[in-house]
Amino acid sequence: MLQLVYYFFEIVEPVLVPICFVFAWVLVVVFSWTIIMATRDTIAKAKQMHEIPCTKCQFFTNDRHLKCTVQPKIANTEQAIECSDYRQIKNPFASF
Ligand code: SF4
Repeated sequence: MLQLVYYFFEIVEPVLVPICFVFAWVLVVVFSWTIIMATRDTIAKAKQMHEIPCTKCQFFTNDRHLKCTVQPKIANTEQAIECSDYRQIKNPFASF
């Protein structure tokens, strides 16, 4: 059995180094691409989350039991970005 492995590596040896070289660079490129895509997705998600207007809305209660008195199901979610009931707080210090 070990003879077979020995012969196999003797046959494959001339192409083994180039294959490992290419495989290593493919791994580096895939890893870098994954990091770049994850960073891009994280930035896009963060921008989207900052578009949620609830914390600037007068109906937002800042209470975990009832976050919003008008639209409690969509409060603080991405669905609230286009909320038709959004009313900006006139005095931002009055609600706290
Ligand atoms: S009314 Fe709409 S924008 Fe205002 S807190 Fe409720 S869900 Fe958010």
